[in-house]
Amino acid sequence: MFRLFFRRKPRRAPVNARVEALRAQAKAELPPRLAELAALHGFQYRKIFIKNNVSNWGSCSSLKNINLNLRLVELPRELQDYVMLHELCHLKYLNHGKEFHALLESVCPGHRELARRMKEYKIR
Ligand SMILES: [Zn+2]
Repeated sequence: MFRLFFRRKPRRAPVNARVEALRAQAKAELPPRLAELAALHGFQYRKIFIKNNVSNWGSCSSLKNINLNLRLVELPRELQDYVMLHELCHLKYLNHGKEFHALLESVCPGHRELARRMKEYKIR
């Protein structure tokens, strides 16, 4: 009886069809757009990872890898670009200091208004 109890497989979360559909769309759409924006503005990153998390829309590591949330594809195009350009600027400044914002404004004019609009969207 104990054995039966302990041998039971851990319960796995059911594969969420919606998340998998978003992941497929994100993998098809986000890497080419990030590459395009990077080339346009002279940024060089190492790798892009598509993540499924609720903590951020994107992040940039000190190893120059960029992580993007798969739910970005549900946002308007200009906000997708804003997030990607924001993370690309972190390749040069790993903070939100003055230089970071000046650089971001130069590649993404009106970025503060776009940042404000991002607040209307929650990662679900
Ligand atoms: Zn940032």
